[in-house]
Amino acid sequence: MIPAKTIEEIFQKARIEEVVGDFMVLKRRGVNLLGHCPFHNEKTPSFTVSPAKNIFKCFGCGKSGTPVGFIMEHENMTYVEALHYLARKYNVQIEEVERNPEQVEADKQKESLILINEFAMKHFQHNLLETQFGRDVGLSYFTSRGFHRATIEKFGLGFAYPDGYNLLNEAKTKAYNIDLMKELGLITSSDRDFFTNRVMFPIFNLSGRVIGFGGRALTTNDKTPKYLNSADSEIYNKSRNLYGFYQGKNAIRKEDHCILVEGYADVTTLHQAGIEIAVASSGTSLTVEQSQLIKRFTDNITVLYDGDQAGIKAAIRAIDILLEQNINVNIAILPDEEDPDSYLKNHGAQALLDFISSNQMNFVQFKLTQSDDASRKDPIKKVTLAQDIIQSIARIPDMLKREVYGTETARMLDIREEVIFTELAKALKKHTDQQRLEAYRDQRIKERESTSADNQEKDTATFESGTEENMPLNAIMKVLILHGDDIYDYQTNQLIKERIIEDLEEESEYINHPLYLQLYEEYKTRLESGQTNSYEYYINHSNADIRKMVLLWIDPGYEFSQNWIDKYQHPLQYQPPPDKNYINEYNHSILLLKMQSLNLIVEENKQKINELIANKDEEGLIIQLRAQLLIDKERKEIAEKLGIVVIP
Ligand SMILES: [Zn+2]
Repeated sequence: MIPAKTIEEIFQKARIEEVVGDFMVLKRRGVNLLGHCPFHNEKTPSFTVSPAKNIFKCFGCGKSGTPVGFIMEHENMTYVEALHYLARKYNVQIEEVERNPEQVEADKQKESLILINEFAMKHFQHNLLETQFGRDVGLSYFTSRGFHRATIEKFGLGFAYPDGYNLLNEAKTKAYNIDLMKELGLITSSDRDFFTNRVMFPIFNLSGRVIGFGGRALTTNDKTPKYLNSADSEIYNKSRNLYGFYQGKNAIRKEDHCILVEGYADVTTLHQAGIEIAVASSGTSLTVEQSQLIKRFTDNITVLYDGDQAGIKAAIRAIDILLEQNINVNIAILPDEEDPDSYLKNHGAQALLDFISSNQMNFVQFKLTQSDDASRKDPIKKVTLAQDIIQSIARIPDMLKREVYGTETARMLDIREEVIFTELAKALKKHTDQQRLEAYRDQRIKERESTSADNQEKDTATFESGTEENMPLNAIMKVLILHGDDIYDYQTNQLIKERIIEDLEEESEYINHPLYLQLYEEYKTRLESGQTNSYEYYINHSNADIRKMVLLWIDPGYEFSQNWIDKYQHPLQYQPPPDKNYINEYNHSILLLKMQSLNLIVEENKQKINELIANKDEEGLIIQLRAQLLIDKERKEIAEKLGIVVIP
């Protein structure tokens, strides 16, 4: 358990724009900040960050939350892990009281995995820089390729010994858990080092911690692959990480541009030459998740691949993935026998940048240059080429861009525009059908996962607002939490919270929704013991349902629900924006709540009256009918105030 005082300190220090800003680009839009949602795939930004309210909200997928919530969701952390993360970021000392054993175990497991990776990185670094053998073999390799000492340190590069036991023995001496090392793929199942005789490139996550490794072989033969990567583990997922992204993210954000290269060495040498916007997909060809990661930082990518067959093939694959993210993609293919690393060494950084700017082309031009003149004259080959380009254009979500590329294709292939656009329409339909099918499949998979998952600590709020029955109560609780400390009555200086508690004491048996009841009881308890009842406390509540409920109230884009007006069939007595009308909103809602309770009493009375009639109890009947009249009178009074008609 983290002490409540510490948690409050974390809430106060954690600024949503800073926390989110570590992971994505935000642009100012009025009082809020706007970016591409990291939680769903979107073409136009609808992810809103409100510094004033210290929350985020996506108007595309509906996700919202506080700094803690963002970290939980984005980094797939538990509540406690997220608090620790923020405590580290904001230098808040955590003195742990006590925690439940499972939590301790889970936290420990992840943290241990990262600590083991950090140990391995340090060990490989030590090999490279502090041992004679490492210097002779590993360091001389880096030096021969022009790596500076500062670059080696910035990227944490290292060297794995060839004997197969060097890391294992060191780990045993230092009492690291060998089973966990196997889980990370550092040690093989037959108790040997996985990486041998390789220079090592640690892979960092967005917050700068080591989650995996890539190793490049120093001797190559048919049996040893040139590159080896860590296996996927609880902390590392190949398809979601880009090599160099941690070191380059700020530059990518600033320059609004990213260069995608093929290898680890390309990334490091480009960074060394001052081109810090270079990243590489590690151990996979470019994936959708990786392109979404880039998309959160920039819309502009140059694919800079080698001119060999493999490079061109990989570039073609990357194009379609990037186009689907509505990323502006340019392709620059290096001359034969060159890679970015060698080009830099032979010609320098400026020459490489010049080469890119004068040789990069859009994907239509690129696909055309991949065909020779003869095939553009051969009608059948020309049709195949046109169809290939049209398939790519169909992936672009932006209609205007499709139009531009369609026109360009028609012109360059000398085909009538109508023909191109008819084909494009067909391809689009096929593509969207396919997407729908895939979305359906994803949805099914998610459903299955969520039913089997037992991640109760994750954000699994089940609260759904908007049931007709709970609307008055919902509004009352909202006013209590958001405006409880404001003055209700200027003549008596009564505060809103005092008024609400006074009113609700009469109706408290009608707070029949467990979540509202929990909130209300906690509010009163905290009030009595002199603790704060700010909404910040509740949006950071350990109960996910309470977090979600309160977050819905403070939506940056909150508007009063038309739904509610329709459902109740009566005019609202106040005009939006509702957060300026909370006293009216409260007065109205408490009347509705009273009406709800009276309606329940009427039901009970009707039953009693029927029983009395059946028992022929005239005396009882008279008393009960009088009570009924009083209730009806009260209902009528409330109805008049509400401007509605009561059904008898
Ligand atoms: Zn979203």
